[in-house]
Amino acid sequence: MSVDRRQFLKAAGATGLLGLLGSPLFKIFAPGELEASPELKEGMAKSAKRWAMVVDMKAFPTEESYNKCIEACNNIHNIPHIENEKHEIKWIWAEKYENAFPDSYNGYVSESIEKMKFLVLCNNCENPPCVRVCPTKATFKREDGIVVMDYHRCIGCRFCMAACPYGARSFNWRDPRPFIKNLNPSYPTRTKGVVEKCNFCADRLYRGELPACVEASNGALIFGDLKDENSNVRKTLRSKFTITRKPELGTFPGVYYIIGGS
Ligand code: SF4
Ligand code: SF4
Ligand code: SF4
Repeated sequence: MSVDRRQFLKAAGATGLLGLLGSPLFKIFAPGELEASPELKEGMAKSAKRWAMVVDMKAFPTEESYNKCIEACNNIHNIPHIENEKHEIKWIWAEKYENAFPDSYNGYVSESIEKMKFLVLCNNCENPPCVRVCPTKATFKREDGIVVMDYHRCIGCRFCMAACPYGARSFNWRDPRPFIKNLNPSYPTRTKGVVEKCNFCADRLYRGELPACVEASNGALIFGDLKDENSNVRKTLRSKFTITRKPELGTFPGVYYIIGGS
């Protein structure tokens, strides 16, 4: 049976929560609740002080390999396939270097970098400008660092889109549901007039699963707790040179990139 949107919105929203405290859906957006899940898989952190991701571009040999990550996210989250660029909904997508890292592009990068497409997604920033401008608190940062959406509270003003320097948010100009290729009944669909974006697969983390894109990446995406020095993310950051997008803005992205070198 499909998850009713109203049920989900009640669960995700700040209103009407009391009757749903026992629902797993409520816990999608409840900080500090992960430890309670009995379904945690071995090897996956139960909870985190700060979830983060490393994108190892060298580990994506072909366009097909990163397309798998995009498809995994799109399929699981009921992302509509809308051809009109203005109406497109994107949680994770590919960008050329000059668009992903405009501050460090000098026009003389190597041919391999020039040809590369970089997977980009919401950075789930430490200091998220989108959260600061939201008048209804429909978008907020959880204790574990994930910036989430409460669709029930979103009034579609799009201030958050203007504030995000990474273009990581999409607005539903139309009802997205007719454009969903294969409906995933266990994930809610959205409606016209709300903003959406990547949420680091908060619901999967609750179940002790890795984000869908990470699972599909064959090791090219690394995910874990930035505050745990033994996590895969920290081990990778210790051993590899990484960069973040637009670091000069002070947003402190939670997504790091390995571009080249050893
Ligand atoms: S990338 Fe954009 S939408 Fe995501 S948390 Fe940062 S400012 Fe907000
Ligand atoms: S569009 Fe929604 S989430 Fe974005 S600022 Fe407006 S109310 Fe907040
Ligand atoms: S972390 Fe989850 S929501 Fe974000 S891009 Fe990956 S699959 Fe999509």
